[in-house]
Amino acid sequence: LPEVLARCRPPERPKKTPAQPQEALDVETLREHLSAGRIKPYFQPILLASSLKPVGAEVLARLSLPDGSVLGAGAFIPLAERSGLIMELTRVLSERLIELEPRLRPLGLDFISVNLSAANVESTQAAAMVKHLVDAFAGSSRIMIELTETAVLPDLQQMRELTTQLRLGGASLAIDDFGIGYSSIRALAELPYDALKIDLSFVAEMFDSEKSANLIASMVHMAHSLHLKVVAEGVETEAQRDRLIEMGVDRLQGYLFGRPVPIEQFVL
Ligand code: C2E
Ligand code: CA
Ligand code: CA
Ligand code: CA
Repeated sequence: LPEVLARCRPPERPKKTPAQPQEALDVETLREHLSAGRIKPYFQPILLASSLKPVGAEVLARLSLPDGSVLGAGAFIPLAERSGLIMELTRVLSERLIELEPRLRPLGLDFISVNLSAANVESTQAAAMVKHLVDAFAGSSRIMIELTETAVLPDLQQMRELTTQLRLGGASLAIDDFGIGYSSIRALAELPYDALKIDLSFVAEMFDSEKSANLIASMVHMAHSLHLKVVAEGVETEAQRDRLIEMGVDRLQGYLFGRPVPIEQFVL
């Protein structure tokens, strides 16, 4: 029996796991990075499907560390949302964006998309910040707010207040990550959205699963019947691009057209 058990034991782990990613951030460290100006906006182009010309950009947060490494949003946004630091992070990022307005203006973008988590957001505070942003870009680009609904703010009444305030501030609104998590069809009917972003998981699976492809087609149909523009994100291949255009998607975004880059590298 001991012999059998020994054979069932999982293989011993190597003593040192090679190239472990950096330790998870804690709130205090994130706060330090934030006040040291290490949270930076990166820009990714969004193209008009009918012309394949860039018409907008999404601002994506990055953490630029002193050692030269750059962390993606997934490494710190969830922590910022949980800890309540997200509002301050968003404020810092939008201040930085306002400083960059003179460099963005010559690009002639119709719109600039900014992410806002519905988590830990106080609607009057968010609305004031967004209005500030809208005013700073009044001479160049429309500000589009991409809202992600989360478990923290599931209440439709609160979402109604937030979206109404943002609209009054002059921003357009997109519902982000549509089709997964907390985004609901009910919200589409009741909240003043202008655009719907199909979650990239559907695009990733569109050729492997007929169901995913059918869901995309249905989302396009539903969105258009509600007069919403449809954006597909995560477009990585020409085949995906062509099929999404056929399905009537209005705007395209993904590595096929450009990765998120700092302003210095953002040329269209
Ligand atoms: P999201 O808003 O859905 O953004 C799309 C994510 O997909 C981004 O990841 C982007 O870099 C990535 N992406 C773009 N094109 C492709 C592609 O072709 N293939 C694949 N596989 N991925 C692609 P990122 O920048 O790591 O951001 C992750 C999430 O973090 C975002 O998802 C958004 O929810 C959140 N986030 C990012 N920046 C901010 C911010 O400033 N504020 C808030 N509140 N959330 C942010
Ligand atoms: Ca987004
Ligand atoms: Ca998404
Ligand atoms: Ca998201």
